[in-house]
Amino acid sequence: MVKISDCSLNGTFPTLLVRLGCMKASISSIILKECLRSEKMAQLFFKYGAMNSGKSIEILKVAHNYEEQNKPVVLMTSGLDTRSGVGNVASRIGLERTAIPIFDETDVYETIANLEQKPYCVLIDEAQFLKKHHVLAFTRVVDELNIPVMAFGLKNDFRNELFEGSQYLLLYADKIEEMKTICWFCHKKATMNLHYVDGQPVYEGDQVQIGGNEAYYPVCRHHYFHPEMNKEVNNEK
Ligand SMILES: [Zn+2]
Repeated sequence: MVKISDCSLNGTFPTLLVRLGCMKASISSIILKECLRSEKMAQLFFKYGAMNSGKSIEILKVAHNYEEQNKPVVLMTSGLDTRSGVGNVASRIGLERTAIPIFDETDVYETIANLEQKPYCVLIDEAQFLKKHHVLAFTRVVDELNIPVMAFGLKNDFRNELFEGSQYLLLYADKIEEMKTICWFCHKKATMNLHYVDGQPVYEGDQVQIGGNEAYYPVCRHHYFHPEMNKEVNNEK
């Protein structure tokens, strides 16, 4: 509940309230709305989930919802993610859009600050691949430019270690939300990502591996350590 006394007003509105008597209620509601608006500060969101938890679909949905109201948004994604070409947000159901690619050397604060039109929101796919300096720059986009930033990504890699981007988003985000999906092998919630190379589970190696006959599956903790090999083979695309 926002009280009138909480707002930084110069005294004009309280005086009006006394003079206008019967209009008091409607003016109060206007003041309340203004107060709520001024207090609505942008926030940094981190929405994480295992593989196939619908992160890209959610980004495309949020972008669509803003743009339906003529509110422009900016889509960004890691320049490392080349599965659907550099600078693309692609969902498994076939929808995709172009996005600004983020490379290690990209100054994301300057990129957003120099846009001709201030966006209503910045949406980031594959946020696990962000560097610490990117996450810190996005906190400035939120705090200095007052633009909400929503970052979507994996929390843990196939070795079950935090990605750099996820680590700093967990530390700096205002709001953290888990996007849920179920285990590839059972009906428990998937909290980890199992990596297969040539049909065998892999638990060690470089965090980012591109190419090769590989696949990632969302799994529960039990099946991360004890995958059902036959079932995996049967389901493998
Ligand atoms: Zn399971």
